[in-house]
Amino acid sequence: MLDKVLIANRGEIALRILRACKELGIKTVAVHSAADRDLMHVRLADESVCIGPASSTDSYLNIPAIISAAEVTDAEGIHPGYGFLAENADFAEQVERCGFKFIGPKADVIRLMGDKVSAIDAMKKAGVPTVPGSDGPLPDDPEFVVQTARRIGLPVIIKAAAGGGGRGMRVVHTEAHLVNAVQVTKAEAKAAFGDDTVYMEKFLQNPRHVEIQVLADGQGNAIHLGDRDCSLQRRHQKVLEEAPAPGIPEDVRREVQERCVQACIEIGYRGAGTFEFLYEDGGFYFIEMNTRVQVEHPVSEMVTGVDIVKEQLRIASGLPLTIKQEDIVIRGHSFECRINAEDAKTFLPSPGKVDHFHAPGGLGVRMDSHLYDGYTVPPYYDSLIGKLITWGETREIALTRMRNALDEIVIEGIKSNIGLQQDLVRDSGFMEGGVNIHYLEKKLSL
Ligand code: ADP
Repeated sequence: MLDKVLIANRGEIALRILRACKELGIKTVAVHSAADRDLMHVRLADESVCIGPASSTDSYLNIPAIISAAEVTDAEGIHPGYGFLAENADFAEQVERCGFKFIGPKADVIRLMGDKVSAIDAMKKAGVPTVPGSDGPLPDDPEFVVQTARRIGLPVIIKAAAGGGGRGMRVVHTEAHLVNAVQVTKAEAKAAFGDDTVYMEKFLQNPRHVEIQVLADGQGNAIHLGDRDCSLQRRHQKVLEEAPAPGIPEDVRREVQERCVQACIEIGYRGAGTFEFLYEDGGFYFIEMNTRVQVEHPVSEMVTGVDIVKEQLRIASGLPLTIKQEDIVIRGHSFECRINAEDAKTFLPSPGKVDHFHAPGGLGVRMDSHLYDGYTVPPYYDSLIGKLITWGETREIALTRMRNALDEIVIEGIKSNIGLQQDLVRDSGFMEGGVNIHYLEKKLSL
């Protein structure tokens, strides 16, 4: 087992990683920006190092500073969390080259899955269902572009191979706009990601977002931990997630889960990962893979009993997976509400001092949050301040617990989206289950 781990992140996920390390008897190093001295996990870590000023470019994205911190503290492994450097293949490579263990996949696998064109290609080879599309980058040939769109059928979506965070995508409904849309998306992709490779996919009109959680040890063993539905999104940002995804036929579910496990083995995957799919009319269509732990991982933990972060740490220590697929039994149902420091109407971030914080409790209620009375949410980073997670023997019980927990939670001094979450867990469409990715934005525009 790793002896000491540096946590290259902040906020709730840094605390989540610290807790897993402590359970495994691993010593911890917190690295933080000058604006983050008061973070909960910094107080709890065995050691802490300030790696730069508030700006994340100079701190949480500062590769030399993080590696130096690992050197001076004699850390053995580096956990990147999510966001920041978690899917940066160059970072993973430098970490390993400097003799540390990167808690995630090998750099070449991050690179393979980070380029959406190569990721889709790898998935096709592994038998994972993908969205009908251009099967590779679009060449500078208007005739080819038009022919491809005709073959797929309009509407189509033009996407940047290097895209992420919902950027670098354009939907095209008519043939007349096609060639121009490709040019504009290429120019945008070049400016935003330094790579103008784009490809074409059929634009699915009313899909759900369903994803599969996997664990693989890079030694030939891989399992899945079931699926999650993350269709409630605003501007491609997930708001409320659940596991398992409701209303999917068991045979369809099992088939795609097995394909994902197979794909992990074929690409030599190591660590925790998520295959993201659009699900429409009974079919799964791969869109991308996240090669890291995700914000919504707790819902899978609640229904499987597997601690995903502890598994990441075991795998990075070189230990083979000890959990077998047949050990994974999906029990009950789980929801996660993301709690953001933001204005309820404008959705603008609302940093500031938390005068009072009271976490809800009770059987099947989990609050993953770094908040405490008197903590000041800095304005420099993501507005996620916590995740409220519930579990129940049935979807209904888990949802009732979420309603009660949201009514119990108290956050005073800053604005939050708790009101929105309270609305959502009482929304009749959501209560029924299986809403599509446009549902929340439509509801908000009413
Ligand atoms: P990113 O890496 O930027 O998150 P994704 O490929 O995961 O990009 O797509 C983000 C979102 O864009 C999806 O969750 C979905 O809402 C929408 N989207 C992407 N591809 C398609 C498609 N082929 N049809 C319909 N919607 C899509």
